Amino acid sequence: MSKFCPKCGEKLVDSAMFCKNCGASLEGIPNPHQTTAGEYRVPVVEDDHKIAVIAGYVLAILLPLFGFIVGIYLLTRNSQNARKHGKYVMIVAAVLWIISFLL
Ligand SMILES: [Zn+2]
Repeated sequence: MSKFCPKCGEKLVDSAMFCKNCGASLEGIPNPHQTTAGEYRVPVVEDDHKIAVIAGYVLAILLPLFGFIVGIYLLTRNSQNARKHGKYVMIVAAVLWIISFLL
């Protein structure tokens, strides 16, 4: 079995740590179907916390305090997408919260 360099596409042996063509490190290449522990992750629709993300943005605009709480909730999720949006939700909530004090 062989794998390919993510950078230049060179065909490499499975045990290769570096690409023999361009020298790119092959460690830590994210595999969407496998965790670092080697366990298979069951794809779950709610893994992205889409509803919480949408609710977070809506609340961040309407009720910044609650949006901020949803942002914290998203930041503590085990999903990269949820954490990314959690950060944005918190920023939006914080900005609007400050604006609501100024107005
Ligand atoms: Zn390469």
